[in-house]
Formats: sequence, C-alpha cells, structure tokens
Amino acid sequence: MLIAADTYKAISKFLLEQHTTLVAVSKTKPNEAVKELYDLGQRDFGENYVQELVDKHASLPLDIRWHFIGHLQSNKVKYIAPFVHLIHGVDSLKLLQEINKQAIKNNRVIDCLLQVYIAQEETKFGMDEKELAEAIDAASTLSNINIKGLMGMASFSSDTQVLKNEFNHLQSLYKKYQLTNSFSILSMGMSSDYTIAIDAGSNLVRIGSLLFGARDYSK
Ligand SMILES: *Cc1c(COP(=O)(O)O)cnc(C)c1O
Repeated sequence: MLIAADTYKAISKFLLEQHTTLVAVSKTKPNEAVKELYDLGQRDFGENYVQELVDKHASLPLDIRWHFIGHLQSNKVKYIAPFVHLIHGVDSLKLLQEINKQAIKNNRVIDCLLQVYIAQEETKFGMDEKELAEAIDAASTLSNINIKGLMGMASFSSDTQVLKNEFNHLQSLYKKYQLTNSFSILSMGMSSDYTIAIDAGSNLVRIGSLLFGARDYSK
C-alpha cells in the first residue's frame, strides 16, 4: 500500500457528514498511489504542476476529475484546457482571459475559483479585495468560464486563532459575492488545518500528505 487507506476512509466519512468535497492532492506522487485511492472510490484529485497533470491524465482512468490547484502560468493553460475539471488558483484577470480563450478553442466552459490572498506571508499568491471585485466584474463578460467560488491558503502557522481569522475573512468575502454570482464552492483547508477551515465554512478541502504521506521533493 502506498496510501493511508484507513485515514482515507475516516476522513471521507467525516467529510461526507460535513457535506464537504475531498480533493486528494497527488502532486509528486506516482500513478500507482493515485490508482490505489481511486480503487477505494476517490474521484477528485488535485495537481500543482501542468506537465505532471497532463501525464497523469493520460495514464489514469478517464472518470477522474482533475483539479488544478497550483499557480498557473498563462502560457500553460492550453495544455490542461481540454480536460481540467476545476482551476482553483486563478489570481489575475489576464489568466482568466487566457482560460476563456482556451475554453472557447476547446468548445467547453471551464469552471474556475478565484484565489484570494488571506495569509500574512509574502510568498502566497492571490488577489486582494479590489482585484477580486474587478475580476468578478470582468468575468461576467467572458463567455466560456464559470466562476464557481473562491479559494485561499492560510498562513503556515500553528496558531489556531491566526488560521481561524484568515479562513473567516475568506468566508466573509465568499458570502458577500455568493448570492449575486451563484457561488457554490469555498475551497480552503489542507492536511494541517482542514477541520478549522470546515468550521469556518469551507465546503471543499485539498488534502495531500495525510493520504499519501509526506512529499519528497529531492527526487
Ligand atoms: C500541496 C497543496 C495542498 C495539500 O497540502 P497537504 O499539506 O499535503 O495536505 C493543498 N493545497 C494546495 C494549493 C497545495 O499546493
């Protein structure tokens, strides 16, 4: 076994009760590990790197819903546009326009989440509130994208109160736009903070290391 099957079963049961979707984050992990989780019933998987996502899509079952959760460069949208299920990290209008263009080429509508900057760390990506408002405005004129909601990453911190505050902040923005824009997805929470995120209103969590073990970037 390459995966933590018992942990997966416990987490999926908990998330089902919470009406929360699980995206299993398989970045850097081999196809065999993805297949093991697939065989237990998991269908939503998340990847951060375009080439890795393209390769995995080509070699794994076709009914997997592939989520792109990393930082997406405009010039790479074309590689994932034919099949991607949901793009989480949309953080600029330019990127949104490129996704729309590639969606038109592929004759499909691509679902997107706008990434909001909620952490204290400079290294994290995302829009501020002004950029968010502008992107939501502009998106209404783009024919082939559908903004389904918001995504955010909290600070890398063990201070529960800091995490709560950041998630609550994202939830308040989500609520602000939810009704007028038919939002249905609030993507926040990872292995270390997903229960806090759910308490703050998350309905989609992105969990990697709890299911697949720690990642080894040295290989
Ligand atoms: C890697 C990653 C995750 C999963 O992180 P874990 O701590 O392994 O659960 C979730 N979201 C994003 C955006 C990621 O890059």
